[in-house]
Amino acid sequence: EFVIGILALQGAFVEHQAALEGLSLREKLHVVLVKTPEDLEKCDALVIPGGESTTIALLARLSGVLDPLREFVKSKPVWGTCAGAILLSQAVENAKKGGQDLLGGMSIKIARNGWGSQVESFEAALEVNGLRKPDQPFNGVFIRAPVVLELSPSSTDPPIQIIAKLSPNLLPPSLASPDHSDEPKIFVALRQGQHFLTTFHPELTNDNRFHEYFVKEFVIPSKP
Ligand code: GLN
Repeated sequence: EFVIGILALQGAFVEHQAALEGLSLREKLHVVLVKTPEDLEKCDALVIPGGESTTIALLARLSGVLDPLREFVKSKPVWGTCAGAILLSQAVENAKKGGQDLLGGMSIKIARNGWGSQVESFEAALEVNGLRKPDQPFNGVFIRAPVVLELSPSSTDPPIQIIAKLSPNLLPPSLASPDHSDEPKIFVALRQGQHFLTTFHPELTNDNRFHEYFVKEFVIPSKP
């Protein structure tokens, strides 16, 4: 049995729980909500939900789970969605005054609320590599989503793989670059080593192929 934790301090953790518990693999899984260092200790892998990255980090600090999370990220699989993707990044732009605690884990730079106020929320069909039923597009739900600004793997970092992209013509003019070199802003799902991020919210759809992907690709292979 694999124990998957969902960080349950704020945000869409209940929806992740329902999606994981709805998988056909569920007999192999034990899903726990993580609020304390003791909860985290039981976990083989962790999902960090969408919500508000500043609030999640603040609550993590107050509940004493921030440093244990930083340790966890060094050795176990973690999937961050939206706000969770921000927390998993190494560097952030548009952090709130007072700053943003990060967990690191993925060597990318990300912008909070990167779509700007004109395009706060939208849905878009995504091109995805590696999901079951590849011919069925995945509906990406983006809510005040972050935008990936830079992939900066140094030679010692594991390579970054692009798992899902948005069509470049969906980028608003404020984000599109005149020479059409719009990558990495169109990268909306990435993996690196044991970590996975999606800037959208797969837990807010009835399609749990990304949850299945995380379990099959990251959680099950993580144990000998
Ligand atoms: N804008 C939020 C943040 O910066 C993320 C939004 C989300 O998770 N839907 O934390």
